[in-house]
Amino acid sequence: MATETPSSVVPAAGRSPASWGLGDGQAIPWEYAPAPESAEIVTIRERYGLFIGGREVAAADGATFPTVNPATEETLTVVARATPADADKAVRAARRAQRRAWGTLSGRERAKYLFRIARILQERSREFAVLESMDSGKPIKESRDVDVPLAAAHFWYYAGWADKLEYAFPGRVARPLGVAAQIIPWNFPLLMLSWKIAPALAAGNTVVLKPASTTPLTALLFADVCRQADLPPGVVNIVTGPGEIGMRLVTNPGVDKVAFTGSTEIGKRIAKGVAGTDKALTLELGGKAANVVFDDAPLDQAVEGIVNGIYFNQGEVCCAGSRLLVQESIADPLIDKLKDRLATIRVGDPLDKNTDVGAINSKAQLEKITELVASGVAEGAELYQPACDLPDRGYFFRPTLFTNVAQSHRIAREEIFGPVLSVLTFRTPDEAVEKANNTLYGLSAGIWTDKGSRILEMVQRMKAGVVWANTFNRFDPTSPFGGYKESGYGREGGMHGLHAYVRLEDR
Ligand code: NDP
Repeated sequence: MATETPSSVVPAAGRSPASWGLGDGQAIPWEYAPAPESAEIVTIRERYGLFIGGREVAAADGATFPTVNPATEETLTVVARATPADADKAVRAARRAQRRAWGTLSGRERAKYLFRIARILQERSREFAVLESMDSGKPIKESRDVDVPLAAAHFWYYAGWADKLEYAFPGRVARPLGVAAQIIPWNFPLLMLSWKIAPALAAGNTVVLKPASTTPLTALLFADVCRQADLPPGVVNIVTGPGEIGMRLVTNPGVDKVAFTGSTEIGKRIAKGVAGTDKALTLELGGKAANVVFDDAPLDQAVEGIVNGIYFNQGEVCCAGSRLLVQESIADPLIDKLKDRLATIRVGDPLDKNTDVGAINSKAQLEKITELVASGVAEGAELYQPACDLPDRGYFFRPTLFTNVAQSHRIAREEIFGPVLSVLTFRTPDEAVEKANNTLYGLSAGIWTDKGSRILEMVQRMKAGVVWANTFNRFDPTSPFGGYKESGYGREGGMHGLHAYVRLEDR
C-alpha cells in the first residue's frame, strides 16, 4: 500500500512525469495533450463596484479588495469593499423596488424577466463558465456542464412558478416576504446565487446578495445580466465585502428574510442575529455525508459514484460523500478498484477540459485541508494518495483516501471540504445506519445496493435531507435540498424552495 508520511501530505509539485497516473509509479503508455479552454471570452475589468439600485457604485469610502485566481495565485481584479452604510443603502434600494416596482407586478410579468435572465445565462454560458473556473478554481468541465446549466435551470424552473403561486399553494394566497438578504459561499458561486435569487424573485421579493469574498466575479457578471434583462433597478442588489457586511444585512431591520449557505459556525451566528425578530430564516450549512456501499452493489458503478461523491469540485461540497461506509466483505476489492481509479484522476489547470480536480479555492482552505489530513495520519489512519504531478503554482491538493479510519478520528467527524475520503467498514445494515447517522450533520447520504427494498428501508432510517440511491451529487431545480441537525433548516429547490419566500394567507 502506498502510504506517505505526514510531511509529504503537504501538496508538492515535482513528481516525475513517468509516475503520472498509476499509483505504483508505472508510466502511462500515452502522452497527455492539454486541452485548455480559451479565457478570451471573458473580459475582466480593472475594478468592479457594488450593484445597488441598478447602478454600479464604488464603496462609500472607495475601498476595494482583490480576488485571486487560486490556480495561479494571480490577482484577477479588485472589487469594492462595501461599508455598513453601503449595505444599508442596498437594503433601502431593495425595499423601494419591492414596494414600487417588483411587488406590484403580476406573476406573469415577473416570469417574463426570469425567463429572460435564464435565456441570457444560457446565451452567455461559456463566459460564465470560464469566469467561474478562473475565480473559484473549479474545473471547466464542471462549471460548463454542471454549475452554469443548473443555474439557468433554476431560473427557468422558478420563472414557471411566478404566475402559478395559487397552484403551488392551493386555497391560500401567497404574498412575498419583502426584502431578502442572501449570503452565499465560494464553492458554487453562480449556482448558489441562482438557488437564492430565482425563487425569491419568482415570489415577488427583492434581494440583496453578498457573495463570498474569494468568488465575487460571477455575481458581478450577473449584475450585468440583470441590466441586460432590463430588470427594474433595485430588484437585485449585490454587495461585495467581508463577513461583517453579511451580518450587517442580517441585522438590518429593513430585511424580512435571511437565506444563508456556508459554514455551521457562521450559520449559528446568523441564527443568533435574527433571533427575537420576525425575520424568516433558512440555513444550509455543513455536512459529513455517508456513502454506504453494500456487498450486492455493482462495484464499478459504485466506484464512479464514490469518486463523483468526494472528488467533484475538489470535495468542496457541503453534501460531499466524505465518509465511505463499505460492507466488510467487499472492502478489499472496492478499495483496490478505488485506488486504481484515483490514479487516473487528473489534477491541474481548471481551464483544461481534461482536468478532473482543479484548484482549492483559497490558501486558507488549502491550509485547513492540509491540517486535517495531517491529523488523520497522526491519529493512525492509513493515507493513500496517487502519485500525480501538481502544478508549481496555485493551491492544489492530491485526491486522498484514508483507510483504517475510526469514528473518533477528526477526519471522520469534521467537514474537511477538500478531496479527502475517509473509509470505514460495517457488517450489518444496522451498523451501517448507526455509523451513517453518527454525525452532528444531516445533509445528504448515499446508498449502493442491488435491492430496491433495502434502498427504501435505508432511506427511512438515514437522518439526512437528501439520500441518493445508486448515484451521488445529483441536483435538480425541482427537488428540495436541505438538512437536519447542524446542517441547517429550511429547503431550497422545488416548491419547498418557493415556500421559503412567501407568507401564506387565507383567502
Ligand atoms: P463562511 O461560512 O465563513 O462563508 C460563507 C459566507 O458567509 C461568505 O459569503 C462569507 O463572507 C459570509 N460570512 C462570513 N462571516 C460572516 C458573518 N459573521 N456574518 C455573515 N456572513 C458571514 O465559510 P468559509 O468561507 O470561512 O469556509 C469555512 C468552512 O466552512 C469551510 O472549510 C467549509 O468546511 C465550510 N463551508 C461550507 C459551505 C457549505 O456550502 N455548507 C460553504 C463554504 C464553506 P466572506 O467570504 O466575505 O468571509
